Amino acid sequence: MAPAADEVRLTGAPVAPGVSVGRACLYCWPAAEHESAGAPDVVREGGRLDETLAWMVERLTAMAEAAKARLDAEMADIFLAQRTFLEDPNLRRRLFQIMESQRVDAESAVERQLGAYEAQLRAVETEYLRERAADIAELRQGLVSRLRRVMPFCRCRDVQHCPPGECPLGNDHIVVTTELTSQLVVEANCNTRGFIVERGGALSHAAILARALGLPVVGGVRDPHETVPCNARILIDGDTGEVVLDPAEKTVRSWSGRGRRRPAASTPVPELRVLANVDHRDDVQDAVAAGAEGIGVYRTETDVLAWRRPLTEDEQEERYTEAVTAMAGRPVHVRMLDLGSDKTAEWLRLPAEENPALGCRGSRLLLARDELFTPQARALARASRHGAVHVIYPMVGNVDEFLELRARFRRAVVGIDAGTVHHGVMFEVPAACLQAREFYRVMDFGCIGSNDLVQYLLAVDRHSDCCDTEEVFEHPALWTLIRWMAEAAGAAGKPLAACGELAGNPRFTRRLVESGVTAVSVAPRRIPAVRGAVRGVESVAWG
Ligand code: PEP
Ligand code: MG
Repeated sequence: MAPAADEVRLTGAPVAPGVSVGRACLYCWPAAEHESAGAPDVVREGGRLDETLAWMVERLTAMAEAAKARLDAEMADIFLAQRTFLEDPNLRRRLFQIMESQRVDAESAVERQLGAYEAQLRAVETEYLRERAADIAELRQGLVSRLRRVMPFCRCRDVQHCPPGECPLGNDHIVVTTELTSQLVVEANCNTRGFIVERGGALSHAAILARALGLPVVGGVRDPHETVPCNARILIDGDTGEVVLDPAEKTVRSWSGRGRRRPAASTPVPELRVLANVDHRDDVQDAVAAGAEGIGVYRTETDVLAWRRPLTEDEQEERYTEAVTAMAGRPVHVRMLDLGSDKTAEWLRLPAEENPALGCRGSRLLLARDELFTPQARALARASRHGAVHVIYPMVGNVDEFLELRARFRRAVVGIDAGTVHHGVMFEVPAACLQAREFYRVMDFGCIGSNDLVQYLLAVDRHSDCCDTEEVFEHPALWTLIRWMAEAAGAAGKPLAACGELAGNPRFTRRLVESGVTAVSVAPRRIPAVRGAVRGVESVAWG
Protein backbone atom coordinates (compact mmCIF):
# COMPACT_ATOMS: atom_id res chain seq x y z
CA MET A 1 0.00 0.00 0.00
CA ALA A 2 1.36 3.48 -0.91
CA PRO A 3 2.29 5.65 2.10
CA ALA A 4 -0.16 8.43 3.03
CA ALA A 5 1.15 11.98 2.68
CA ASP A 6 2.52 12.57 6.23
CA GLU A 7 3.75 9.09 6.91
CA VAL A 8 7.41 8.22 7.28
CA ARG A 9 8.29 4.57 6.76
CA LEU A 10 11.36 2.77 8.10
CA THR A 11 12.50 -0.73 7.34
CA GLY A 12 13.97 -2.84 10.12
CA ALA A 13 14.13 -6.59 10.66
CA PRO A 14 11.32 -8.85 11.90
CA VAL A 15 12.16 -10.07 15.41
CA ALA A 16 8.85 -10.95 17.07
CA PRO A 17 5.59 -11.10 15.10
CA GLY A 18 2.48 -9.02 15.38
CA VAL A 19 1.27 -5.54 14.59
CA SER A 20 0.90 -2.76 17.18
CA VAL A 21 0.17 0.91 17.27
CA GLY A 22 1.25 3.16 20.14
CA ARG A 23 3.19 6.22 21.23
CA ALA A 24 6.99 6.11 21.21
CA CYS A 25 8.73 5.92 24.56
CA LEU A 26 12.51 6.41 24.29
CA TYR A 27 14.27 4.12 26.71
CA CYS A 28 17.98 4.80 27.32
CA TRP A 29 20.76 2.69 28.68
CA PRO A 30 23.45 4.56 30.61
CA ALA A 31 26.66 5.09 28.61
CA ALA A 32 28.93 2.07 28.74
CA GLU A 33 32.30 3.85 28.93
CA HIS A 34 34.06 3.49 32.19
CA GLU A 35 37.52 4.34 33.44
CA SER A 36 39.12 2.96 36.57
CA ALA A 37 40.33 5.81 38.76
CA GLY A 38 43.86 4.77 39.81
CA ALA A 39 44.81 1.52 41.53
CA PRO A 40 41.72 0.21 43.29
CA ASP A 41 41.43 -1.00 46.85
CA VAL A 42 40.97 -4.71 46.21
CA VAL A 43 39.14 -5.41 49.48
CA ARG A 44 36.68 -2.59 48.87
CA GLU A 45 36.15 -3.66 45.27
CA GLY A 46 35.59 -7.25 46.38
CA GLY A 47 32.87 -6.04 48.76
CA ARG A 48 31.19 -4.00 46.01
CA LEU A 49 31.34 -6.96 43.66
CA ASP A 50 29.80 -9.36 46.17
CA GLU A 51 27.03 -6.92 47.00
CA THR A 52 26.27 -6.44 43.31
CA LEU A 53 26.28 -10.15 42.51
CA ALA A 54 23.89 -10.77 45.40
CA TRP A 55 21.65 -7.91 44.22
CA MET A 56 21.54 -9.33 40.71
CA VAL A 57 20.77 -12.85 41.96
CA GLU A 58 17.84 -11.44 43.89
CA ARG A 59 16.67 -9.45 40.90
CA LEU A 60 16.83 -12.49 38.62
CA THR A 61 14.82 -14.50 41.12
CA ALA A 62 12.16 -11.79 41.05
CA MET A 63 12.23 -11.77 37.25
CA ALA A 64 11.82 -15.54 37.16
CA GLU A 65 8.80 -15.26 39.41
CA ALA A 66 7.32 -12.53 37.22
CA ALA A 67 7.91 -14.62 34.08
CA LYS A 68 6.33 -17.65 35.71
CA ALA A 69 3.31 -15.67 36.79
CA ARG A 70 2.79 -14.06 33.38
CA LEU A 71 3.87 -16.97 31.20
CA ASP A 72 5.10 -20.34 32.37
CA ALA A 73 7.91 -22.14 34.13
CA GLU A 74 9.89 -22.53 30.92
CA MET A 75 10.05 -18.78 30.43
CA ALA A 76 11.12 -18.40 34.05
CA ASP A 77 14.05 -20.68 33.21
CA ILE A 78 15.57 -17.90 31.10
CA PHE A 79 16.24 -15.95 34.29
CA LEU A 80 17.06 -18.98 36.41
CA ALA A 81 19.72 -19.95 33.87
CA GLN A 82 21.21 -16.46 34.11
CA ARG A 83 21.16 -16.80 37.89
CA THR A 84 22.91 -20.18 37.77
CA PHE A 85 25.60 -18.61 35.62
CA LEU A 86 26.12 -15.80 38.15
CA GLU A 87 26.14 -18.13 41.13
CA ASP A 88 28.90 -20.29 39.70
CA PRO A 89 31.79 -20.00 42.20
CA ASN A 90 34.25 -20.20 39.28
CA LEU A 91 32.89 -16.96 37.88
CA ARG A 92 33.32 -15.14 41.19
CA ARG A 93 36.82 -16.61 41.59
CA ARG A 94 37.76 -15.45 38.11
CA LEU A 95 36.44 -11.91 38.73
CA PHE A 96 38.46 -11.65 41.92
CA GLN A 97 41.55 -12.95 40.13
CA ILE A 98 41.16 -10.24 37.47
CA MET A 99 40.79 -7.50 40.08
CA GLU A 100 43.87 -8.69 41.93
CA SER A 101 46.19 -9.56 39.07
CA GLN A 102 45.22 -6.72 36.73
CA ARG A 103 44.71 -4.14 39.51
CA VAL A 104 41.34 -3.03 38.22
CA ASP A 105 38.04 -2.20 39.90
CA ALA A 106 34.93 -4.38 40.00
CA GLU A 107 33.35 -2.72 36.92
CA SER A 108 36.41 -3.46 34.77
CA ALA A 109 36.64 -7.05 35.98
CA VAL A 110 32.99 -7.61 35.03
CA GLU A 111 33.47 -5.90 31.67
CA ARG A 112 36.54 -7.99 30.87
CA GLN A 113 35.34 -11.40 31.97
CA LEU A 114 31.77 -11.24 30.71
CA GLY A 115 32.96 -9.43 27.59
CA ALA A 116 35.29 -12.36 26.88
CA TYR A 117 32.39 -14.86 27.24
CA GLU A 118 30.29 -12.76 24.90
CA ALA A 119 33.06 -12.69 22.30
CA GLN A 120 33.38 -16.50 22.47
CA LEU A 121 29.66 -16.95 21.91
CA ARG A 122 29.54 -14.45 19.07
CA ALA A 123 32.19 -16.48 17.24
CA VAL A 124 30.04 -19.62 17.20
CA GLU A 125 28.54 -20.67 13.86
CA THR A 126 25.03 -21.49 15.04
CA GLU A 127 22.87 -18.39 15.05
CA TYR A 128 20.83 -19.49 18.03
CA LEU A 129 23.98 -19.85 20.14
CA ARG A 130 25.38 -16.56 18.94
CA GLU A 131 22.25 -14.99 20.30
CA ARG A 132 23.11 -16.32 23.76
CA ALA A 133 25.81 -13.65 23.85
CA ALA A 134 22.92 -11.23 24.40
CA ASP A 135 22.12 -12.93 27.72
CA ILE A 136 25.66 -12.36 28.92
CA ALA A 137 25.62 -8.78 27.61
CA GLU A 138 22.46 -8.20 29.60
CA LEU A 139 24.05 -9.44 32.79
CA ARG A 140 27.20 -7.42 32.17
CA GLN A 141 25.19 -4.28 31.55
CA GLY A 142 23.04 -4.84 34.65
CA LEU A 143 26.01 -5.49 36.92
CA VAL A 144 28.00 -2.50 35.67
CA SER A 145 24.98 -0.18 35.94
CA ARG A 146 24.42 -1.29 39.50
CA LEU A 147 28.11 -0.87 40.41
CA ARG A 148 28.03 2.64 39.01
CA ARG A 149 24.62 3.36 40.48
CA VAL A 150 23.26 4.53 37.12
CA MET A 151 20.12 2.90 35.88
CA PRO A 152 18.25 3.03 32.55
CA PHE A 153 15.87 5.94 32.14
CA CYS A 154 13.38 7.40 29.67
CA ARG A 155 13.91 10.74 28.00
CA CYS A 156 12.57 13.18 25.47
CA ARG A 157 15.40 14.73 23.54
CA ASP A 158 17.87 15.81 26.26
CA VAL A 159 15.38 15.70 29.09
CA GLN A 160 15.37 12.70 31.36
CA HIS A 161 11.80 12.55 32.50
CA CYS A 162 10.74 9.34 34.13
CA PRO A 163 12.04 6.14 35.64
CA PRO A 164 11.60 2.95 33.59
CA GLY A 165 8.16 1.42 33.91
CA GLU A 166 6.58 4.73 34.91
CA CYS A 167 6.35 6.37 31.54
CA PRO A 168 3.77 9.16 31.68
CA LEU A 169 2.65 8.42 28.14
CA GLY A 170 -0.12 6.33 29.63
CA ASN A 171 -1.86 3.86 27.38
CA ASP A 172 -0.32 2.01 24.50
CA HIS A 173 3.32 2.87 24.19
CA ILE A 174 6.03 1.31 22.08
CA VAL A 175 9.43 1.19 23.72
CA VAL A 176 12.22 2.48 21.47
CA THR A 177 15.68 1.43 22.58
CA THR A 178 19.09 0.31 21.40
CA GLU A 179 19.22 -3.09 23.13
CA LEU A 180 16.37 -5.50 23.82
CA THR A 181 16.89 -7.40 27.06
CA SER A 182 14.85 -10.15 28.69
CA GLN A 183 14.42 -8.03 31.80
CA LEU A 184 13.07 -5.11 29.82
CA VAL A 185 10.53 -7.40 28.13
CA VAL A 186 9.35 -9.04 31.33
CA GLU A 187 9.13 -5.69 33.11
CA ALA A 188 7.04 -4.23 30.30
CA ASN A 189 3.89 -2.90 31.88
CA CYS A 190 0.39 -3.57 30.65
CA ASN A 191 0.50 -0.48 28.42
CA THR A 192 3.52 -1.68 26.45
CA ARG A 193 2.50 -2.68 22.94
CA GLY A 194 5.85 -3.58 21.43
CA PHE A 195 9.45 -2.62 20.84
CA ILE A 196 11.65 -0.97 18.24
CA VAL A 197 15.30 -1.84 18.82
CA GLU A 198 18.65 -1.37 17.18
CA ARG A 199 20.18 -4.69 18.25
CA GLY A 200 18.59 -8.01 19.15
CA GLY A 201 17.98 -10.99 16.90
CA ALA A 202 14.90 -13.16 16.54
CA LEU A 203 16.50 -16.01 18.49
CA SER A 204 17.51 -14.00 21.56
CA HIS A 205 15.81 -14.87 24.82
CA ALA A 206 14.37 -11.38 24.88
CA ALA A 207 12.70 -12.09 21.52
CA ILE A 208 11.46 -15.49 22.74
CA LEU A 209 9.86 -13.78 25.73
CA ALA A 210 8.37 -11.03 23.58
CA ARG A 211 6.84 -13.67 21.29
CA ALA A 212 5.44 -15.53 24.28
CA LEU A 213 3.89 -12.31 25.58
CA GLY A 214 2.53 -11.47 22.12
CA LEU A 215 4.58 -8.26 21.91
CA PRO A 216 5.83 -7.42 18.41
CA VAL A 217 9.47 -6.41 18.00
CA VAL A 218 11.15 -4.72 15.06
CA GLY A 219 14.96 -4.88 15.16
CA GLY A 220 17.78 -3.40 13.16
CA VAL A 221 16.56 0.22 13.33
CA ARG A 222 19.71 2.33 13.37
CA ASP A 223 19.98 5.22 15.83
CA PRO A 224 16.37 4.71 16.89
CA HIS A 225 16.40 7.66 19.28
CA GLU A 226 17.41 9.97 16.47
CA THR A 227 14.88 8.51 14.06
CA VAL A 228 11.76 8.13 16.20
CA PRO A 229 10.60 11.23 18.12
CA CYS A 230 9.41 10.81 21.70
CA ASN A 231 5.62 10.49 21.92
CA ALA A 232 5.23 10.08 18.13
CA ARG A 233 2.41 7.75 17.13
CA ILE A 234 3.89 4.69 15.46
CA LEU A 235 2.80 1.46 13.88
CA ILE A 236 5.15 -1.52 13.98
CA ASP A 237 4.91 -4.78 12.05
CA GLY A 238 7.04 -7.45 13.68
CA ASP A 239 6.41 -9.87 10.79
CA THR A 240 7.94 -7.68 8.13
CA GLY A 241 10.14 -5.29 10.11
CA GLU A 242 8.20 -2.25 8.89
CA VAL A 243 7.69 0.86 11.01
CA VAL A 244 5.33 3.68 10.11
CA LEU A 245 5.64 7.04 11.88
CA ASP A 246 2.41 9.01 12.17
CA PRO A 247 0.36 6.40 10.30
CA ALA A 248 -2.87 7.52 8.68
CA GLU A 249 -6.01 5.78 9.88
CA LYS A 250 -6.41 3.96 6.58
CA THR A 251 -2.86 2.62 6.98
CA VAL A 252 -3.68 1.32 10.47
CA ARG A 253 -6.87 -0.29 9.14
CA SER A 254 -5.09 -1.94 6.23
CA TRP A 255 -2.48 -3.41 8.57
CA SER A 256 -4.87 -4.84 11.12
CA GLY A 257 -5.67 -7.94 9.02
CA ARG A 258 -2.08 -9.08 8.50
CA GLY A 259 -0.80 -12.31 10.07
CA ARG A 260 2.56 -13.87 10.95
CA ARG A 261 4.99 -14.35 8.05
CA ARG A 262 6.57 -17.72 7.71
CA PRO A 263 9.20 -18.63 5.10
CA ALA A 264 7.91 -18.77 1.55
CA ALA A 265 6.38 -22.13 0.63
CA SER A 266 7.61 -24.05 -2.39
CA THR A 267 6.67 -27.41 -3.81
CA PRO A 268 8.98 -30.44 -3.91
CA VAL A 269 11.06 -31.13 -7.01
CA PRO A 270 11.62 -34.72 -8.21
CA GLU A 271 15.40 -34.27 -8.51
CA LEU A 272 16.18 -33.83 -4.81
CA ARG A 273 14.49 -34.16 -1.44
CA VAL A 274 14.82 -30.88 0.43
CA LEU A 275 14.54 -31.17 4.19
CA ALA A 276 14.83 -28.50 6.85
CA ASN A 277 17.38 -27.84 9.55
CA VAL A 278 15.91 -27.21 12.97
CA ASP A 279 18.14 -25.33 15.38
CA HIS A 280 15.36 -24.50 17.77
CA ARG A 281 11.80 -25.70 18.33
CA ASP A 282 10.37 -22.54 16.71
CA ASP A 283 11.99 -23.65 13.44
CA VAL A 284 9.67 -26.67 13.22
CA GLN A 285 6.71 -24.51 12.16
CA ASP A 286 8.97 -22.69 9.68
CA ALA A 287 9.88 -26.08 8.21
CA VAL A 288 6.20 -26.93 7.79
CA ALA A 289 5.44 -23.53 6.25
CA ALA A 290 8.33 -23.86 3.80
CA GLY A 291 7.01 -27.20 2.56
CA ALA A 292 10.05 -29.14 3.78
CA GLU A 293 9.99 -32.85 2.98
CA GLY A 294 11.06 -33.58 6.52
CA ILE A 295 13.58 -32.46 9.11
CA GLY A 296 17.12 -33.30 8.00
CA VAL A 297 19.02 -32.27 11.11
CA TYR A 298 17.55 -31.28 14.46
CA ARG A 299 20.52 -29.78 16.33
CA THR A 300 19.51 -30.75 19.85
CA GLU A 301 22.55 -29.24 21.57
CA THR A 302 21.36 -25.74 20.75
CA ASP A 303 18.62 -25.78 23.38
CA VAL A 304 20.85 -27.37 25.98
CA LEU A 305 23.48 -24.69 25.57
CA ALA A 306 20.88 -21.95 25.53
CA TRP A 307 19.24 -23.17 28.74
CA ARG A 308 22.65 -23.89 30.30
CA ARG A 309 21.58 -27.26 31.63
CA PRO A 310 20.67 -30.65 30.20
CA LEU A 311 16.98 -30.93 29.33
CA THR A 312 15.06 -33.59 31.18
CA GLU A 313 13.75 -36.67 29.43
CA ASP A 314 10.22 -35.20 29.53
CA GLU A 315 11.30 -31.84 28.13
CA GLN A 316 13.10 -33.58 25.30
CA GLU A 317 10.23 -35.91 24.56
CA GLU A 318 7.91 -32.94 24.27
CA ARG A 319 10.19 -31.26 21.69
CA TYR A 320 10.79 -34.38 19.59
CA THR A 321 7.11 -35.34 19.65
CA GLU A 322 6.24 -31.84 18.53
CA ALA A 323 8.62 -32.23 15.56
CA VAL A 324 7.42 -35.72 14.61
CA THR A 325 3.77 -34.72 14.86
CA ALA A 326 4.28 -31.54 12.84
CA MET A 327 6.03 -33.48 10.08
CA ALA A 328 3.09 -35.91 9.85
CA GLY A 329 4.88 -38.92 8.43
CA ARG A 330 7.75 -37.09 6.74
CA PRO A 331 11.16 -38.18 8.08
CA VAL A 332 12.55 -36.50 11.17
CA HIS A 333 16.30 -36.78 11.76
CA VAL A 334 17.31 -35.84 15.28
CA ARG A 335 20.99 -35.51 16.03
CA MET A 336 22.15 -36.74 19.41
CA LEU A 337 23.82 -33.98 21.42
CA ASP A 338 26.83 -32.73 19.49
CA LEU A 339 28.72 -31.07 22.32
CA GLY A 340 32.37 -30.21 22.86
CA SER A 341 34.88 -28.04 21.03
CA ASP A 342 33.16 -24.70 20.34
CA LYS A 343 29.81 -26.04 21.59
CA THR A 344 30.69 -26.05 25.23
CA ALA A 345 29.77 -24.53 28.55
CA GLU A 346 31.36 -24.45 31.98
CA TRP A 347 28.61 -26.55 33.55
CA LEU A 348 29.53 -29.41 31.20
CA ARG A 349 32.86 -29.66 33.00
CA LEU A 350 34.73 -30.88 29.95
CA PRO A 351 38.41 -31.67 30.37
CA ALA A 352 40.69 -28.74 29.52
CA GLU A 353 42.36 -29.70 26.26
CA GLU A 354 44.96 -28.07 24.06
CA ASN A 355 42.87 -28.67 20.96
CA PRO A 356 39.25 -29.48 21.82
CA ALA A 357 38.26 -29.64 18.13
CA LEU A 358 40.22 -32.89 18.05
CA GLY A 359 39.36 -33.96 21.56
CA CYS A 360 36.44 -35.10 23.64
CA ARG A 361 33.52 -34.02 21.45
CA GLY A 362 30.53 -35.37 19.54
CA SER A 363 30.20 -39.12 19.84
CA ARG A 364 33.28 -39.46 22.03
CA LEU A 365 31.56 -37.26 24.57
CA LEU A 366 28.26 -39.12 24.23
CA LEU A 367 30.04 -42.38 24.98
CA ALA A 368 31.73 -40.84 28.01
CA ARG A 369 28.65 -39.17 29.47
CA ASP A 370 25.78 -41.51 30.06
CA GLU A 371 23.82 -38.84 31.96
CA LEU A 372 23.54 -36.94 28.66
CA PHE A 373 23.03 -39.97 26.43
CA THR A 374 20.41 -42.02 28.26
CA PRO A 375 17.67 -39.37 28.79
CA GLN A 376 17.99 -38.31 25.18
CA ALA A 377 17.78 -41.86 23.86
CA ARG A 378 14.71 -42.55 26.00
CA ALA A 379 13.03 -39.29 24.95
CA LEU A 380 13.61 -40.17 21.29
CA ALA A 381 12.21 -43.66 21.77
CA ARG A 382 9.12 -42.21 23.48
CA ALA A 383 8.64 -39.66 20.68
CA SER A 384 8.90 -42.43 18.07
CA ARG A 385 5.48 -43.67 19.17
CA HIS A 386 4.07 -40.70 17.22
CA GLY A 387 6.09 -41.36 14.06
CA ALA A 388 9.43 -42.79 12.94
CA VAL A 389 12.58 -41.12 14.26
CA HIS A 390 15.97 -41.14 12.53
CA VAL A 391 18.76 -40.84 15.08
CA ILE A 392 21.98 -39.24 13.83
CA TYR A 393 25.22 -39.74 15.75
CA PRO A 394 27.61 -36.78 15.35
CA MET A 395 31.36 -36.83 14.64
CA VAL A 396 31.63 -40.60 14.45
CA GLY A 397 35.15 -41.79 13.59
CA ASN A 398 34.72 -45.50 12.85
CA VAL A 399 32.18 -48.29 12.48
CA ASP A 400 32.80 -49.75 15.94
CA GLU A 401 31.96 -46.43 17.50
CA PHE A 402 28.64 -46.37 15.64
CA LEU A 403 27.86 -49.96 16.70
CA GLU A 404 28.63 -49.11 20.31
CA LEU A 405 26.40 -46.01 20.22
CA ARG A 406 23.51 -47.92 18.69
CA ALA A 407 23.89 -50.75 21.21
CA ARG A 408 23.86 -48.25 24.07
CA PHE A 409 20.80 -46.59 22.62
CA ARG A 410 18.99 -49.91 22.48
CA ARG A 411 19.99 -50.78 26.03
CA ALA A 412 18.90 -47.34 27.30
CA VAL A 413 15.39 -47.70 25.86
CA VAL A 414 14.65 -51.22 27.08
CA GLY A 415 11.15 -51.25 28.54
CA ILE A 416 9.86 -48.41 26.35
CA ASP A 417 7.21 -49.41 23.87
CA ALA A 418 8.88 -47.48 21.04
CA GLY A 419 7.92 -47.00 17.38
CA THR A 420 10.39 -47.19 14.49
CA VAL A 421 13.86 -45.81 15.18
CA HIS A 422 16.47 -45.69 12.41
CA HIS A 423 20.15 -45.16 13.14
CA GLY A 424 22.74 -43.38 11.01
CA VAL A 425 25.82 -41.18 11.21
CA MET A 426 26.87 -37.73 10.24
CA PHE A 427 29.86 -38.00 7.92
CA GLU A 428 32.18 -35.34 9.24
CA VAL A 429 35.42 -37.19 9.96
CA PRO A 430 37.27 -37.96 6.70
CA ALA A 431 38.29 -41.43 7.94
CA ALA A 432 34.62 -42.32 8.45
CA CYS A 433 33.77 -41.03 4.96
CA LEU A 434 36.40 -43.34 3.48
CA GLN A 435 34.70 -46.20 5.29
CA ALA A 436 31.27 -45.31 3.88
CA ARG A 437 30.78 -48.82 2.42
CA GLU A 438 31.42 -50.45 5.78
CA PHE A 439 29.07 -48.00 7.51
CA TYR A 440 26.27 -48.59 5.00
CA ARG A 441 26.45 -52.34 5.68
CA VAL A 442 25.26 -51.74 9.24
CA MET A 443 23.44 -48.38 9.36
CA ASP A 444 20.16 -47.14 7.88
CA PHE A 445 21.14 -43.78 6.39
CA GLY A 446 24.00 -41.26 6.21
CA CYS A 447 24.27 -37.50 6.23
CA ILE A 448 27.28 -35.43 5.17
CA GLY A 449 28.06 -32.68 7.69
CA SER A 450 29.82 -30.41 5.26
CA ASN A 451 30.89 -27.78 7.80
CA ASP A 452 33.03 -30.14 9.83
CA LEU A 453 33.97 -32.35 6.91
CA VAL A 454 35.50 -29.37 5.10
CA GLN A 455 37.28 -28.32 8.27
CA TYR A 456 38.89 -31.71 8.87
CA LEU A 457 39.48 -32.69 5.25
CA LEU A 458 40.94 -29.42 4.04
CA ALA A 459 42.48 -28.08 7.25
CA VAL A 460 40.34 -24.95 7.16
CA ASP A 461 39.05 -23.85 10.54
CA ARG A 462 35.29 -23.37 10.08
CA HIS A 463 35.40 -20.21 12.20
CA SER A 464 38.30 -18.61 10.38
CA ASP A 465 37.74 -16.12 7.60
CA CYS A 466 41.19 -16.77 6.17
CA CYS A 467 39.77 -18.45 3.05
CA ASP A 468 36.87 -17.80 0.73
CA THR A 469 34.27 -20.44 1.62
CA GLU A 470 33.01 -20.93 -1.92
CA GLU A 471 36.55 -21.43 -3.19
CA VAL A 472 37.14 -23.98 -0.44
CA PHE A 473 34.00 -25.84 -1.53
CA GLU A 474 35.49 -26.19 -5.03
CA HIS A 475 38.33 -28.43 -3.82
CA PRO A 476 38.29 -31.58 -6.02
CA ALA A 477 39.15 -33.83 -3.09
CA LEU A 478 35.89 -32.84 -1.39
CA TRP A 479 33.89 -33.86 -4.46
CA THR A 480 35.80 -37.10 -4.89
CA LEU A 481 34.88 -37.97 -1.33
CA ILE A 482 31.24 -36.97 -1.80
CA ARG A 483 30.96 -39.19 -4.89
CA TRP A 484 32.63 -42.00 -2.97
CA MET A 485 30.02 -41.78 -0.21
CA ALA A 486 27.15 -41.47 -2.72
CA GLU A 487 28.38 -44.58 -4.49
CA ALA A 488 28.44 -46.48 -1.21
CA ALA A 489 24.92 -45.28 -0.38
CA GLY A 490 23.66 -46.21 -3.85
CA ALA A 491 25.21 -49.68 -3.66
CA ALA A 492 23.48 -50.25 -0.32
CA GLY A 493 20.21 -48.75 -1.57
CA LYS A 494 20.16 -46.36 1.40
CA PRO A 495 19.86 -42.56 1.53
CA LEU A 496 22.70 -40.06 1.67
CA ALA A 497 21.82 -36.47 2.53
CA ALA A 498 24.04 -33.40 2.81
CA CYS A 499 23.76 -30.58 5.31
CA GLY A 500 25.89 -27.66 6.47
CA GLU A 501 26.74 -24.55 4.48
CA LEU A 502 27.60 -26.42 1.29
CA ALA A 503 24.13 -27.97 1.14
CA GLY A 504 22.41 -24.63 1.73
CA ASN A 505 24.30 -22.80 -1.01
CA PRO A 506 22.27 -23.01 -4.26
CA ARG A 507 25.49 -22.62 -6.25
CA PHE A 508 26.44 -26.17 -5.33
CA THR A 509 23.05 -27.88 -5.37
CA ARG A 510 23.32 -29.15 -8.98
CA ARG A 511 26.72 -30.55 -8.27
CA LEU A 512 25.50 -32.41 -5.20
CA VAL A 513 22.70 -33.99 -7.23
CA GLU A 514 25.08 -34.86 -10.07
CA SER A 515 27.36 -36.51 -7.50
CA GLY A 516 24.56 -38.79 -6.31
CA VAL A 517 23.42 -37.02 -3.14
CA THR A 518 19.68 -37.68 -2.81
CA ALA A 519 18.63 -35.13 -0.18
CA VAL A 520 19.82 -31.92 1.45
CA SER A 521 18.91 -30.31 4.73
CA VAL A 522 18.94 -26.52 4.78
CA ALA A 523 17.52 -23.61 6.78
CA PRO A 524 13.76 -23.36 6.03
CA ARG A 525 14.17 -19.95 4.37
CA ARG A 526 16.67 -21.36 1.89
CA ILE A 527 14.38 -24.14 0.67
CA PRO A 528 12.85 -22.28 -2.32
CA ALA A 529 16.28 -21.18 -3.64
CA VAL A 530 17.74 -24.67 -3.33
CA ARG A 531 14.77 -26.24 -5.09
CA GLY A 532 14.93 -23.58 -7.79
CA ALA A 533 18.61 -24.34 -8.43
CA VAL A 534 18.02 -27.98 -9.15
CA ARG A 535 14.89 -28.18 -11.29
CA GLY A 536 15.62 -30.26 -14.39
CA VAL A 537 19.02 -31.52 -13.24
CA GLU A 538 19.66 -35.20 -13.85
CA SER A 539 20.69 -37.13 -10.79
CA VAL A 540 23.11 -40.04 -10.77
CA ALA A 541 21.89 -43.38 -9.51
CA TRP A 542 24.94 -45.15 -8.16
CA GLY A 543 24.84 -48.77 -7.29
C1 PEP B 1 28.14 -29.90 9.85
O1 PEP B 1 29.21 -30.09 10.42
O2 PEP B 1 28.03 -29.66 8.64
C2 PEP B 1 26.88 -29.93 10.62
C3 PEP B 1 25.70 -29.91 10.06
O3 PEP B 1 27.00 -29.92 11.95
P1 PEP B 1 27.23 -28.56 12.77
O4 PEP B 1 26.10 -28.43 13.69
O5 PEP B 1 28.53 -28.85 13.41
O6 PEP B 1 27.31 -27.43 11.79
MG1 MG C 1 29.24 -30.74 12.53
